[in-house]
Amino acid sequence: MKEESEKWVRAGIVLGKDPNAEVRCPECNSAILEVEDIPLGDDSSKVERYLSCPACKACNVLRMARQERRGNP
Ligand SMILES: [Zn+2]
Repeated sequence: MKEESEKWVRAGIVLGKDPNAEVRCPECNSAILEVEDIPLGDDSSKVERYLSCPACKACNVLRMARQERRGNP
């Protein structure tokens, strides 16, 4: 496995738990990854979490269970 792939996996673990965590881009290491959750159309219990770098446009996607955000309907 390439080093970048391992960094993406680690970023995915951190941002899977806390989408507000500040994780540096595994590709360019110069910007904080932006996180966006996109619901899957036919399965409301899952979302795709897009991780993207505003500097070099690298991106990756996680498929994960939707999290209820308490106090933020
Ligand atoms: Zn980058």
